[in-house]
Amino acid sequence: MNYKQALQHTIFKVISKSVNELNLESYVIGGFVRDFILNRGSHKDIDIVAIGSGIELAKQVSKNLPNNPKVQIFKTYGTAMLKYDDLEIEFVGARKESYSEDSRNPVVENGTLEDDQNRRDFTINALAFSLNENNFGELLDPFNGVSDLENKIIRTPLNPDITYSDDPLRMLRAIRFATQLSFKIEDKSLKAITRNNERIKIITKERIVTELHKILESEQPSTGFLLLEKTGLLQFIMPELTALKGIDEVEGQRHKDNFYHTLEVVDNIAKHTDNLWLRWAALLHDIGKAPTKRFSKKVGWTFHGHEFEGSKMVYRLFKRLKMPLNDKMKFVQKMVLMSSRPIVLAQDGVTDSAVRRLVFDAGDYVDDLMTLCEADITTKNPKRFKKYHNNFKIVRQKIVEVEERDHIRNFQPPVSGEEIMKAFNLKPSREIGVIKEAIKEAILEGDIPNEFDAAYKLMLEEGKKLGLKTDEKRQ
Ligand code: ATP
Repeated sequence: MNYKQALQHTIFKVISKSVNELNLESYVIGGFVRDFILNRGSHKDIDIVAIGSGIELAKQVSKNLPNNPKVQIFKTYGTAMLKYDDLEIEFVGARKESYSEDSRNPVVENGTLEDDQNRRDFTINALAFSLNENNFGELLDPFNGVSDLENKIIRTPLNPDITYSDDPLRMLRAIRFATQLSFKIEDKSLKAITRNNERIKIITKERIVTELHKILESEQPSTGFLLLEKTGLLQFIMPELTALKGIDEVEGQRHKDNFYHTLEVVDNIAKHTDNLWLRWAALLHDIGKAPTKRFSKKVGWTFHGHEFEGSKMVYRLFKRLKMPLNDKMKFVQKMVLMSSRPIVLAQDGVTDSAVRRLVFDAGDYVDDLMTLCEADITTKNPKRFKKYHNNFKIVRQKIVEVEERDHIRNFQPPVSGEEIMKAFNLKPSREIGVIKEAIKEAILEGDIPNEFDAAYKLMLEEGKKLGLKTDEKRQ
């Protein structure tokens, strides 16, 4: 079969011309070919394999392109990259690889196209289109990758035990591709992953997290997490999640399986947001439930304080996985910490003051918090499902109303510390904090409006209670 139509971009003609001039062979391989055949939109990262020097080919291609784009050379890897249009084109010489026990970095030697296809992770990633003049556009598919694409199968070109043990990152890549593409991992492969799961330990945290992000960013992340669990990988990567598995029963009382519940929540939220960190929050929102689980005869199963415990665990988990300990992490912590607040509010009655407190605490993230809580509704009872959603609708409406009136989001005290100091002729002191807190409380409670005059009046009263004198009185 010929795939000339995939290679209409001028870049491929230019590569073909350069190959001819250098008397080499070259092929486009991997994701570009896979995604073209799958009709998955155009792939902007293009991998070119040259039989010979990839670096020389890149230089020649640059010469033949208008404006001679800069060639970035990665000497250690023997690869080169250039950018053209919105494409990133990476050039590599065909290689043969051999691996050792303790590293995923192989010993590399020059090889043929076949050698290079053999070192690819999956049959669907080993597909290549020829860029050579004599057979331009021809598909080279030594492992029946196209039929795997049709049958939606993830399969390794060689013995899966060797493929996964050589480079254990491939185990995660298999699961990630299965999730992104809604493919099945071939049974033999799945068993090999399970057998080799412990090898994941040699993979850097950064690589692991990249794959986790991609799983979380896909349409139905649960596919990936179920596979991670089934193969035993999850236990090594995020034991906090596997700890949520299982249902305990004491005296006929059972709690729900919080692992499967969590995955439902993640799938739900994926339908409503592309925000990766909100998806992380959904994944982690119940992790505090494992260490806080208790049973008492009186009330049955409880998870008291699981939100607080969970938010502390978020920090430890991010740190262990070498994820950024920045505002993204704080956002996830905040979501986990506050994840039950709207529920409690809906149960206790949606008063204005409770809504003001919610908005005050969640700030700009109150909408994200509501999205999380709505995704958290996984009841299979249609009546309850409707009722809970309705309750949150009311909360959302109230948030809009209260916000319009009281402007609590990004709350700035209507009377500043400076003004308090000036009014009572004070130096920085404890009293200022006390007065500020009283004003804030009064606003949140609805005792006074969020306005300067009312707040100033209250300030004077509070100052009086503290025995402070205003300047006017002294004069
Ligand atoms: P995507 O861009 O969607 O992640 P991709 O297939 O282009 O998909 P890359 O990580 O850019 O993914 O890899 C490019 C190609 O390199 C793959 O298609 C595959 O042929 C090969 N490859 C990447 N990583 C590995 C690996 N760990 N082992 C073997 N081959 C790999």
